[in-house]
Amino acid sequence: ILTSRLVHIYRSEGSDVAALSGVDLRVRAGEQIGLLGPSGAGKSTLLSLLGGLFRPSAGTIQVGDVELSAATTRELEDLRAGTIALVLQGAWRNLLPYLTPRENVGFAQYAARRLGREVPEVDDVLSTVGLAGAGEAALTALTPGQLQLCAVAVAVAAAPGVLLADEPTSQLDHVARDRVMAALAEVNRSLGATVVVVTHDPDVAASLPRTVTIRDGRVGGEGRSGEEYSVV
Ligand code: ADP
Ligand code: ADP
Repeated sequence: ILTSRLVHIYRSEGSDVAALSGVDLRVRAGEQIGLLGPSGAGKSTLLSLLGGLFRPSAGTIQVGDVELSAATTRELEDLRAGTIALVLQGAWRNLLPYLTPRENVGFAQYAARRLGREVPEVDDVLSTVGLAGAGEAALTALTPGQLQLCAVAVAVAAAPGVLLADEPTSQLDHVARDRVMAALAEVNRSLGATVVVVTHDPDVAASLPRTVTIRDGRVGGEGRSGEEYSVV
């Protein structure tokens, strides 16, 4: 992932909000990185742009060999169906409530298969995120942490190259939080996905090999061991 001079301005009636004011970010393939920063800093906007949810006002975003700012809507949809997976805030609410975790993952794979993608075994996806024992459970019987793990499983059902997660541990207790972070690490390790996690939780950031701080729409600081790749 490589962004250059990324700018995003929300145009609402009367006033413009500059959410990002020139972000240069480089994330290596296969890396795990946290985007840390206060509320309103622009983290969600940056993650949404990396996920191709909308296009930036200015600047470039390369994910793999695709330049997202120049991609067509169709190309962005194809990317989201396979290459890039998103776990947005409240993603567990989009699970199919009358299906089990196993069926939710299978359903997510159905769409990917129709696009001709090879998908991993459902059981492998469930064990990657630590849900192997709950594959047949009713969703109503799952804890909040397990629901979030299920949302991660659905997101990675088609073995994406990049997993983007927005505050995946918010509103979870410490045990559930650690399980979700372990699931993301395992997605990185066993599926080889590049993982980008937005968080305002310093403990979550500390569990990641590298963090970049976003402040006022800019890259405001670099965490451990990332200096050589950080700002370009
Ligand atoms: P963070 O994720 O770090 O909390 P956001 O990316 O959500 O930051 O927001 C960055 C800035 O953009 C904030 O000032 C926020 O109010 C503003 N913003 C976010 N989304 C919208 C939107 N849809 N319309 C207008 N302003 C927005
Ligand atoms: P986050 O901090 O993760 O961005 P928020 O609670 O700030 O979460 O934002 C939740 C939703 O509200 C997002 O879809 C965001 O784009 C939107 N939003 C945030 N700020 C504004 C704003 N000033 N005007 C309109 N929409 C906004």
